[in-house]
Amino acid sequence: MREKRITHHASRKMFDDINDLYQQVILDHCKQPRNFRETPQCSCSAQGHNPLCGDNLKLFLTLDGDVIKDASFIGSGCCISKASASLLTENVKGKTKTEAEQMFERVRELVTTGKTNGDVGKLAVFAGVYKYPARVKCAILSWHALMGALKGEAKPVTTESEQN
Ligand code: ZN
Repeated sequence: MREKRITHHASRKMFDDINDLYQQVILDHCKQPRNFRETPQCSCSAQGHNPLCGDNLKLFLTLDGDVIKDASFIGSGCCISKASASLLTENVKGKTKTEAEQMFERVRELVTTGKTNGDVGKLAVFAGVYKYPARVKCAILSWHALMGALKGEAKPVTTESEQN
């Protein structure tokens, strides 16, 4: 498959550095977020807030022992934050808590440096985000909420209290 060039004059600055295929995946998950629903019977949940952008989301996890059986989210925010949460819910299903923590570390590395050693699957679409420090918080917000939910934190998770 040949790589398609992004037409620079037509795309927004943010996406200029992002591969066209990655861009399509992000837009798809932003417009039609997967697992976008409340889960009232969940095992744990956490609220995530990114005041710099206005992203607000709540993540719900259903655990079976140590395994994440189901993940869903609700909320509002920018395209990056919604796509990130959508891809997160797909990614962590079936993972153990430890595997989910490892994935958090890889995603954090990816969105802050543009590369990571481990396999991040579809989350590779966020590889270009590191060039935009303000958007890093959007991309990592749902992952902070995930860690908050797994740790059983009662207080809302905010990107402003965390080092990226
Ligand atoms: Zn955002």
